[in-house]
Amino acid sequence: MEKKDAIKELKEKLLMKRRNAVYDMSEEDLAACDSFCEDYKDFMNKAKIEREAVIYSVDLLKKNGYTEYRKGMKLKAGDKIYRNNRGKAILMAVIGTAPIEEGVRLCAAHIDSPRLDLKQNPLYEDNEIALFKTHYYGGIKKYQWTTIPLALHGVVIKADGTTVPVTIGEDENDPVFCVTDLLPHLATAQMQKPLAKGITGEQLNIVIGSRPFKDDEESGAVKLNIMNILFEKYGITEADFISSELEAVPAFKAKDIGFDRSMIGAYGHDDKVCAYTALRATVDCKDPVHTVVTVLTDKEETGSDGNTGLCSAYLEYFIADIAEDMGSDGRTVLSASECLSADVNAAFDPTFPEVNERNNCAYINKGVVVTKYTGARGKSGTSDASAEFTGRIRRLMDDKKVIWQTGELGKVDEGGGGTVAAYIANLNVDTIDLGVPVLSMHAPYEIVSKIDTYMAYKAFIAFCED
Ligand code: MN
Ligand code: MN
Repeated sequence: MEKKDAIKELKEKLLMKRRNAVYDMSEEDLAACDSFCEDYKDFMNKAKIEREAVIYSVDLLKKNGYTEYRKGMKLKAGDKIYRNNRGKAILMAVIGTAPIEEGVRLCAAHIDSPRLDLKQNPLYEDNEIALFKTHYYGGIKKYQWTTIPLALHGVVIKADGTTVPVTIGEDENDPVFCVTDLLPHLATAQMQKPLAKGITGEQLNIVIGSRPFKDDEESGAVKLNIMNILFEKYGITEADFISSELEAVPAFKAKDIGFDRSMIGAYGHDDKVCAYTALRATVDCKDPVHTVVTVLTDKEETGSDGNTGLCSAYLEYFIADIAEDMGSDGRTVLSASECLSADVNAAFDPTFPEVNERNNCAYINKGVVVTKYTGARGKSGTSDASAEFTGRIRRLMDDKKVIWQTGELGKVDEGGGGTVAAYIANLNVDTIDLGVPVLSMHAPYEIVSKIDTYMAYKAFIAFCED
């Protein structure tokens, strides 16, 4: 018996414990977690695309005393500001009590998600069915986007320059849209193809109508009828599609998953689960010592290029602007800064265990994932956080009772991927990846655990208040 106790003690002292976070949470913790996730689901239903996430954020920030930043503002501790980058990305800051030269606590997440974008000339009719041509955005498994209800979100800029916002397919009474697939009876040839080729990019055409003008038997009457409906509803003509950004996204609502309601199914957890938790932590954090800067960026899924993606200078400019307003300069502030690059990670899936290495992958319900490095093959495309910075974040998480785990995206030779971490680290910022594990990442309906989502929020709070 004594020997048994000694071994137990030794295990406790020397070995790492990885277990379901529920064992280490109080009833109050779990209640707070579930209540936080109700807010998250509401956000997910309102912010399916980056523009809507920015609108939601601006609204929340304004309600919490944030004002739009203008260069030259006299900034002092406690000031809350934001900058809206073209309606598709947003920066926000809470000025801390410490001198700005001591660096900022930077949280970065992305608000774009994989989807089907309409082509510039999308509308056509074929055999009296009207369709939209699409060009998919981000990494998708194309077959997953057929035969599911789709909603259309975005904006159309008309010839006179006015903007028409579009959201159709979300209200219970709205129609939805759909990409078709072949019936199994006639899919003998298709079913022989490899999965990646079963549905091609050019087959991702969205059915949008089928009824022609009654008094017109000319070809193109269905298309004309659709255009007439769009003109009556939105005042747009076919040429207006050229200057539009219309995104077809799954029309599903965020819902609890499981008899125990422990998980959430939704479109776009990648990366709105990190964006929402970072946004809320920025708003909820109390009297930060270091200035908190949070950026919710666009274009991560296509490689972060463009002026709303993190390869652009917009983040650097923002930090330089506030640094100068406080009598310092951007490079000094950036060089002293720390960043949680917040993005989702792949969760171990018992149905597909072969792609993960069990000692180093992330699991749902084991807490927020801290990922030292990402990348593919020989860590290509990663920033690889230093042991020192990893150690610092590890201490912070443990001190603030945040339940966390490590996670590597799949087996070494299995594939891989990168995040915005490298672009921020390239600005001479200590950066590490942190995020929520996801099942079915990049699918139209992704799954996260409520506990991991809540732990991400707690991690950002701990970081912002540190
Ligand atoms: Mn992501
Ligand atoms: Mn992604």
